[in-house]
Amino acid sequence: MRRRTNTDLPPPPELPSFTVEAEREPRVDTAGSPEGSHAGSSDDSRGDSRGGRGDRRGGNEAAALRHESTGLQRHDAPLDEDGIDPDAAKVVRRLERAGFQAYLVGGCVRDLLLSGRPKDFDVATSARPDDVRSLFRNCRIIGRRFRLAHVLFGGGKVVEVATFRRNPTNLLADGESDEDDDLLIRSDNVFGEAHEDALRRDFTINALFYDLDRRQVLDWCGGMPDIQRRTIRTIGEPAVRFREDPVRILRAIKFAARLDLAIDPHVYDAMVGSRAELARAARPRIFEEILRLMRMGGSHRSMWLMWEIGAMAILMPELSAFLDDDEATDGGSIRFFKKMGLLDKKTREDGGAMDDVVLMTTLFYDVLEEAASGMRDLMGAVNDFLDPVIDRIAMPRRIADAIRRIMFMVPRILAGKTGRFARTELFLPALDVAELVLASRGQSTSPIEAMRREALPPLPPTREPRRSSSSAPRQRGVRR
Ligand code: ATP
Ligand code: MG
Repeated sequence: MRRRTNTDLPPPPELPSFTVEAEREPRVDTAGSPEGSHAGSSDDSRGDSRGGRGDRRGGNEAAALRHESTGLQRHDAPLDEDGIDPDAAKVVRRLERAGFQAYLVGGCVRDLLLSGRPKDFDVATSARPDDVRSLFRNCRIIGRRFRLAHVLFGGGKVVEVATFRRNPTNLLADGESDEDDDLLIRSDNVFGEAHEDALRRDFTINALFYDLDRRQVLDWCGGMPDIQRRTIRTIGEPAVRFREDPVRILRAIKFAARLDLAIDPHVYDAMVGSRAELARAARPRIFEEILRLMRMGGSHRSMWLMWEIGAMAILMPELSAFLDDDEATDGGSIRFFKKMGLLDKKTREDGGAMDDVVLMTTLFYDVLEEAASGMRDLMGAVNDFLDPVIDRIAMPRRIADAIRRIMFMVPRILAGKTGRFARTELFLPALDVAELVLASRGQSTSPIEAMRREALPPLPPTREPRRSSSSAPRQRGVRR
């Protein structure tokens, strides 16, 4: 296994202060159920001191007694109220008032504990989708196999409300047969209880529920100690969880890179051992996850980890082979990782992700340049290279076509010849790529800045953060 010094890691985010109950950390067995879950006394509802919020024991008696005998640890961890989306809080409170259990859950709780800025807010509830719909006028039900409620607010905000469900592979323990030993989850359409919903999740840090009223984090999987240790650990046996859903390998990389977390050594080994399973995963999910690896300023570390654990050799073997052979590519890996670092820097400076087309072109730039070198038909060489990539990671044609055209434009932009394509919609993304190429060579980027100034009206004093093309309003110069 390659081990190199990574000098371009982001600094760790500030940790907010919270208390973690060190004793009685629940251990989790391979089937995903907490050890000692029938011990009865594990449901610790002592944490009723909610600093200045008064004693609401009477009104909250039922909530305090919830989840008895499920191996629950409650942690007093008042999250920053300002960080909690008021509409998500409204959804939770209305569900609670209607007599259902409702919690903030998953990525938003993790992010509030670690870095304070969740991308979006998800709610888990005991209410069924139709119950949710009857409570919210601004609600639509989505999903055929597993129905979820989306509660819609102004500005395109969506709060996703999902009914508690459980891991369908646990059905095997209930007597269903698993004839071909195939653990790949193809349907997750089974409602369950709150603790089962926590245990079906991928990593302990993603399985924390937040009780808004009691200001407590509910932890069935040892997620809080892992947050404190800043470590990624699967819920249950890592090899099993990665076989169930190999995309989790990429998710582990994403969280490690984005949040600057360590990966537990057993989990790391299982990622290496299960990497071949990625070939079986749904290809559009793979493509989306590769974009997510790159969107949040964690491209350098993500691609490094992907290469190092061998996931890149499965999903993008051309790129992996290119990085492996520094001699033949004359330092190709250095050029590549420099670009990734610069991409992250630009993402941080712009306050949002670069366009998907720019991300994908930058990812393949060096290897495409090598594939096309010495070829008279550059477009043909790029086509030949991209065809298997499109197939393997389900890269949409729209993106592949844009990569082809940008690869044609960049050498001309670098030579100062903008030509006809200066008026096309891909000119600005091509300038972004050209800028990264120049910066990675240590050359001045001022010619690109000049071209950008001429191509665009003067920037207003505060710039809108750039976002990815899949979620952002249409940007000038980028066709979707
Ligand atoms: P991000 O910040 O990138 O959105 P996230 O953790 O919120 O990260 P989502 O894809 O939004 O990820 O999923 C929300 C939650 O659903 C996760 O926090 C996790 O608890 C659960 N989850 C998502 N994907 C999986 C998976 N493949 N297997 C098990 N649980 C998952
Ligand atoms: Mg999320």
